[in-house]
Amino acid sequence: MAAYEYETHEYDVVVVGAGGAGLRATLGMAEQGLRTACITKVFPTRSHTVAAQGGIAASLSNMGPDNWQWHMYDTVKGSDWLGDTDAMEYLAREAPKAVYELEHYGVPFSRTEEGKIYQRPFGGHTTEFGEGPPVQRTCAAADRTGHAILHTLYGQSLKEQAEFYIEYFAIDLLMSEDGQCRGVLAWKLDDGTMHVFAAKMVVLATGGYGRAYFSATSAHTCTGDGGGMIARAGLPLQDMEFVQFHPTGIYGSGCLITEGARGEGGYLTNSEGERFMERYAPTYKDLASRDVVSRCMTLEIREGRGVGPDGDHIHLHLNHLPPETLAERLPGISESARIFAGVDLTKEPIPVLPTVHYNMGGIPTNYWGEVLNPTADDPDAIAPGLMAVGEAGCASVHGANRLGSNSLIDLVVFGRAAAIRAGKVVDPHISVAPPPRAAIDAAFERFDGFRHADGGTPTAELRLEMQRAMQSDAAVFRTDKTLAEGVDKMEKIAGKLDDVKVTDRSLVWNSDLMETLELANLMPNALATVVAAEARKESRGAHAHEDYPDRDDETWRKHSLARVDGAKVTLDYRPVHLDPLTAEDEGGIDLKKIAPKARVY
Ligand SMILES: Cc1cc2nc3c(=O)[nH]c(=O)nc-3n(C[C@H](O)[C@H](O)[C@H](O)COP(=O)(O)OP(=O)(O)OC[C@H]3O[C@@H](n4cnc5c(N)ncnc54)[C@H](O)[C@@H]3O)c2cc1C
Repeated sequence: MAAYEYETHEYDVVVVGAGGAGLRATLGMAEQGLRTACITKVFPTRSHTVAAQGGIAASLSNMGPDNWQWHMYDTVKGSDWLGDTDAMEYLAREAPKAVYELEHYGVPFSRTEEGKIYQRPFGGHTTEFGEGPPVQRTCAAADRTGHAILHTLYGQSLKEQAEFYIEYFAIDLLMSEDGQCRGVLAWKLDDGTMHVFAAKMVVLATGGYGRAYFSATSAHTCTGDGGGMIARAGLPLQDMEFVQFHPTGIYGSGCLITEGARGEGGYLTNSEGERFMERYAPTYKDLASRDVVSRCMTLEIREGRGVGPDGDHIHLHLNHLPPETLAERLPGISESARIFAGVDLTKEPIPVLPTVHYNMGGIPTNYWGEVLNPTADDPDAIAPGLMAVGEAGCASVHGANRLGSNSLIDLVVFGRAAAIRAGKVVDPHISVAPPPRAAIDAAFERFDGFRHADGGTPTAELRLEMQRAMQSDAAVFRTDKTLAEGVDKMEKIAGKLDDVKVTDRSLVWNSDLMETLELANLMPNALATVVAAEARKESRGAHAHEDYPDRDDETWRKHSLARVDGAKVTLDYRPVHLDPLTAEDEGGIDLKKIAPKARVY
């Protein structure tokens, strides 16, 4: 192996990722005077969070009655009773605070007549513990909420003197023998130099792994790099079988039409012009939760009522809404519909199809963002020096299915929580321990192996194989047969990483090598997904298993843990947290309200 020279940087905290979660954590760390670096492979405001359209959930009750208990109930039910109760309580309770902080930082929210933050209805968000009508809980900046949040947080982080390392690709965590995280190795993409970041705390905020699938709404950069690094550090990934399909990706391109479109009054029809959601979800109709709507659309298509020449998609109507509403509340999707479907949505319906959108699973953490390394004695044991937030993490508040607008709030609530926690556990007055030499060498060796890889399969070809296998075998509906085939295919595909071919050997702007590293990160995420799905013999949330159509709380109300080593996955489980943070007589939620029951909308 060629010897690599590197520069060393020392920080109290290093955050990997500058999406909503990474920036909120970075800002909170820097505000407390911790020396904080944020490393990102793309310019901060190009992170996938920028594409978030619909909004951010918090029970502000600006547009009708609402409270944190109702928000918590909806989140528990949305998760199909797989979320951790303490984390879901923390999310719902802290959400209003986190949104008002965003407002004060400068996020330009849309406004009501009285000048309060505008809130729209979103799927699965209700009043009266699911007994009342839909609630208007989703705070929005038109249909560009993520864009507004990201720009604001980036500006604020700069003001607080956080230091940004932009277009640096984090390669691997630097772990000590005894399982402490001591830093991260990164490659500077524009000049090929190598950098060791030594830190007392590393925060992974690397986003989801939507690109493990063929058709996804997420950016091409959503390659699960954090999950890949975690797997290589010998740590587990949690609940990876739960992958959310968004009902309304534009047919063909996968580009997202926000659920806010249905929140503003849009509805779906089949080839008979029928508003079929009324049949499946009589109360909430088109605003049932995402897994439910995606399954109903898939059933309509399967039963021959899809639209288009091949009967393979569904129509989303907004053409009955006043053009002024569309222009004011949904300007971005008007443009997307025109560009990606050639449709003028004031006149015609948009062709849509369920498309991979979000990963409920990820790096297990407690509600402070500390990464868990569960042992037989302690299912909540932590991996010291390591945190994970945002879509890369799994706190777990989304359980088996995430409600729309609950991710943006997850980013800021847990980004903020991680900073609060780091303020307590990171001592700025002690020196930074150097990362172990052996860990640095091992990371370089792996990097160098890919750089000089001279096998028979080009990266793009192998990636496509993986994406097709995942799309067909770990899909909206799953069976024992498709999942077994999926496991078989994915093990073979993961094995082929050893035979990958990289043609460019340079270190400057080598996109061939970067995409190979990304593929090597996607692979353990994809493998964990299909293996954990194959093992789960029930249906829950986004995991719709046709051979086991019912939820089985007795056996399966537990988190899966997948440790991935090469093409081999070892599964284990840990209990769901059932205890709330606050007892009922101290102002907590009435636990009877959130007891498991059938999930109907
Ligand atoms: C089209 C779309 C619309 C959405 N709309 C909504 C919505 O309206 N409401 C809602 O609640 N949720 C929405 N979601 C979901 C939500 O936006 C995402 O879950 C969330 O933005 C993820 O944020 P994040 O901070 O975890 O990661 P991201 O925003 O994906 O950022 C990841 C960061 O990690 C960095 N990174 C990754 N790997 C590396 C590496 N190896 N080295 C260095 N840096 C790295 C990247 O550069 C980037 O800065 C939407 C998602 C999509 C795709």
